[in-house]
Amino acid sequence: MKPFNTSKPHVLFQEVPDEVSLAFTISGCPLGCFGCHSAHTWDPYFGVCLTDGLFLEYLSTYKQLISCVVFFGGEWHVDALLRKLQLARRQGLKTCLFTGLDSIPKVLQQQLTYLKTGRWLKEVGGLDSPTTNQRFIELSSGNLLNYKFQENTNHVAA
Ligand code: SF4
Repeated sequence: MKPFNTSKPHVLFQEVPDEVSLAFTISGCPLGCFGCHSAHTWDPYFGVCLTDGLFLEYLSTYKQLISCVVFFGGEWHVDALLRKLQLARRQGLKTCLFTGLDSIPKVLQQQLTYLKTGRWLKEVGGLDSPTTNQRFIELSSGNLLNYKFQENTNHVAA
């Protein structure tokens, strides 16, 4: 099966700290988290098929604006995601994956700049919560960057 992207990609500023990211949401997440905000994307055929050609077209269109490509899901299509990450890196872009899993295959990690792990658990909150189960990691250093999501929260609360 080929990966389906839920819609046209979006340029995002906050999901990957200090980067301007082109975001792709891949359909077919199998985890079924209770309270998922994207349950409509669980259907693996929702959206349009993200071929390599279409992906490269998007990169070409947005290249002057972005520093990173982020995938929300897609690790269940290991080979296809690996290929997309390689294509992005060849364009000089950083790469990020948001997964609900706690770990992913090493072959994917090797093509990623950033990795967010951990499923959504309402009772402990997301990356902006100090009690979260989720981890946002810069893979080259192993540094945990959750604090970058919590800085703004603390600032607002202060
Ligand atoms: S990992 Fe994300 S997309 Fe998948 S079910 Fe959980 S919250 Fe939804």
